[in-house]
Amino acid sequence: MKGGKLIIFSAPSGSGKTTIVRHLLQQEELNLAFSISATSRPRRGKEKNKEHYYFMSLSEFKNHIKNDDFLEWEEVYRDNFYGTLKSEVERLWAEGKNVIFDIDVVGGLRIKKKFPEQTLAVFVKPPSVDELKIRLKKRSTESEDKINMRIAKASVELATAPQFDSIIKNYDLDTALKEAHDLVAEFIK
Ligand code: 5GP
Repeated sequence: MKGGKLIIFSAPSGSGKTTIVRHLLQQEELNLAFSISATSRPRRGKEKNKEHYYFMSLSEFKNHIKNDDFLEWEEVYRDNFYGTLKSEVERLWAEGKNVIFDIDVVGGLRIKKKFPEQTLAVFVKPPSVDELKIRLKKRSTESEDKINMRIAKASVELATAPQFDSIIKNYDLDTALKEAHDLVAEFIK
C-alpha cells in the first residue's frame, strides 16, 4: 500500500476529536476524506451505514480479520470491534485524497508505525477526566455502564499521549480547531 498522507486523530471518547475531524473535513483546501471504519457495535442514534461506519455483525468482522482485510483492528470495548479496512484507505487514495481517521489510540499508533513518514498522529486531550464524564453524560447516547467503561479506558489512553506527533489540548474548542487546522495544513504542504 502506498499513496497520500494519513492524518490520525485519537483521544479518549468524549474529548471532542469527532468535532475537530468534522471541522477539518469541511476545509476544502486540506483535501481530506474520512476513513469510514468497520465496527461490530450496534448503530447509535442517527448513525448511517457506510457513512459513519460500515456496521457489521461480529462474525462478519471476524471473517475480515481472518482474511487479513484490516490495516489495523481493535476490540476497543468488549465484543465491540473496530477496524480500518485496507480497501477503505485504498479507495480514498485512489480519489487523490489525504485520509483522516477518528480512531482509538492503539489503532492510531499502529498506523503511525506502519507508515511513519506519511502519517501525522495527533492526540486530543480533554481538560480532565471529570469533564469527560460530564460530556459523555450530556451526549446521553450510552447507558451508565457504557459511560463508566469509557471513563475507565480514558486514563489508560491519556498515558499514551506522549507517543503521538502532536498533542492538542481541547480546553477551548475554537482554539483547538485552529491548532488542528494549522497542524494538518503544515503537514500536507
Ligand atoms: P464510538 O463507539 O464512540 O463510535 O467509538 C469508540 C472508539 O473506537 C473511539 O475511540 C473511536 O475513535 C474508535 N474507533 C473508531 N473506528 C476505529 C477503527 O477503525 N480502529 C480503531 N482502532 N478504533 C476505532
